[in-house]
Amino acid sequence: MRRSWSLVDLSIHPVDIALREPFGIATGAKTAALNVFVRATLADGSVGWGEAAPFEAVNGERREVALHGIERSRDALLGWDAVAWRTLGNRLRELSPESPSARCAVETAVLDAICASLNIPLATLFGGTESELESDLTITTGTADRAREAAFSIARQGYRTIKLKVGGAPLDADLARVRAVHEAAPSCALILDGNAALTADDAVTIAEECARIGARLAVFEQPCARHDDDAARSVHERARVMVCADESVASARDVARLARAGAAQAINLKITKSGVVECYDMAVTARAHGMALMVGGMVESSLAMSASAHLACGVGGVEFVDLDTPLWLVDEPVRAEMLRDGPRLSIASVARGHGARPTDGWLASRGGVA
Ligand SMILES: [Mg+2]
Repeated sequence: MRRSWSLVDLSIHPVDIALREPFGIATGAKTAALNVFVRATLADGSVGWGEAAPFEAVNGERREVALHGIERSRDALLGWDAVAWRTLGNRLRELSPESPSARCAVETAVLDAICASLNIPLATLFGGTESELESDLTITTGTADRAREAAFSIARQGYRTIKLKVGGAPLDADLARVRAVHEAAPSCALILDGNAALTADDAVTIAEECARIGARLAVFEQPCARHDDDAARSVHERARVMVCADESVASARDVARLARAGAAQAINLKITKSGVVECYDMAVTARAHGMALMVGGMVESSLAMSASAHLACGVGGVEFVDLDTPLWLVDEPVRAEMLRDGPRLSIASVARGHGARPTDGWLASRGGVA
């Protein structure tokens, strides 16, 4: 007989993690990660952890909203049988429509607990295809000199791809930053991320500058406004560059719409934006439309990033891996079994679930787990 997967407890733990430097994107900057850890316990004693990482500058979501959404979900889900995990994302969307990060935290914790009960890594639940990934490293918004320094350091650490945040600045400043990054790291491929802040004309100009100086532009992520499919298609057609949707895509339904519109040739999967199972459905839908996949995140600790790595390894063949934000955190209070060696991530040694949880010291400092 199956062991009981009835959800018996969901504990909620706000966590403030300082950043080494502000994480700037076109629409704003983050100076601390004000996140939430969630622990799910099933009736058979299996425990799992999840993380909410709201990022107001990306989608307007604040931690208070996430906390409220998690509390509401907890009250409705206690006693629910997690054997129906495939439907949990939809249930959470009804319970907490305003907080995708709350949905992500609860779903990740439940899936982690299920995998603990089954004694399998989370990646196995999604296909178990791979155990290694190669991540890029991000250069946030700022000056050309700062971008040059960062690019030099990133290339020296062995990274082969740099994600450069553009937009929110005069066009000339972004062109100077592109040139600075390419001069400092000429062998690195570039991912440009406009965070929905560029006009199509400016995005095309930046892409053309990459071509002029010989920089390899692998993909242009969300150059234009979230709902402007015409602008995204225009950038793709005029600059002959692969466009990756991020802010424009949060569901499998969005993926199909973008494919029909010719407005994206790749999509960025983020569990904090869409939930874990929805990300899996988005990956399958994208594949059916011949689109490439990126896996990324908000400003997350190694807890949510471990879950994302498992999703990517489970699906397999994810072309662009952007799982770098734990490197921005000062003393993240997380013990993760996923190994990080420069750009290389490995989940090969993770036996159960996503293999990450808050440290005992941090939990003790908070009075333990209630
Ligand atoms: Mg993005």
